[in-house]
Amino acid sequence: MDTDKIKALQEDINNAKHIAFLTGAGVSTHSGIPDYRSKGGIYNGVAESPETILSDDTLFNRPQFFYNFVMNNMYFPDAKPNLIHKKIAEISNKKGTLITQNIDTLDTRAGNKHVIEFHGNLYNIYCTKCHKHLTYDDYAQGYLHKDCGGIIRPGIVLYGEAINPATLEKSVAAMEKSDLVIIVGTSFVVYPFAQLLAYRKPNAKVWSVNKTEIAASGINSIIDDARNVFLKINLK
Ligand SMILES: [Zn+2]
Repeated sequence: MDTDKIKALQEDINNAKHIAFLTGAGVSTHSGIPDYRSKGGIYNGVAESPETILSDDTLFNRPQFFYNFVMNNMYFPDAKPNLIHKKIAEISNKKGTLITQNIDTLDTRAGNKHVIEFHGNLYNIYCTKCHKHLTYDDYAQGYLHKDCGGIIRPGIVLYGEAINPATLEKSVAAMEKSDLVIIVGTSFVVYPFAQLLAYRKPNAKVWSVNKTEIAASGINSIIDDARNVFLKINLK
């Protein structure tokens, strides 16, 4: 554990006027939600690639396969927010915005009022035919909407679909007003999410807290489990 670096991060948090958090799966693994692409993650041992399974093509042309996959591998309705969600919520509510790739709603449930769900969320469930919003319990009964026979889907951005333009705009605005950017629990390889960094202020400080080094230059990194780091970080 790099105590000096954690102290420096704490100091940057104390001094920041507005902070943009950019987070990924590594934040939710402590809530029992598997990391997408890591060893033991949900794609491990699945014969088809995530790009194929989680696509609009599969949703409409192989709806039962899509449904089985998301129900069995992606929904964890009993998961609870952990210490990292809570610390980020506390800081964001005072002076920050969280832009997350996570689709599990744990940040909102941790009380974070400034959350941008870059890829949507699994619990925004609706019928693709009549557009009626449905609950997780409705979806858990099957993928066909009882009222109209349409295919039900989660409001997550699938491969082959674009990021919601309003979401993109809000995310860029958050980056542009932040003097500190903290990347947490993501290997930062998914585009266009990783491109958000390009919208930071020229003098913004950038930190990453991740188990592995991320591919971005000129940033301070703490190579560690995010929980170990956020245990020591506090809102002053
Ligand atoms: Zn319907």
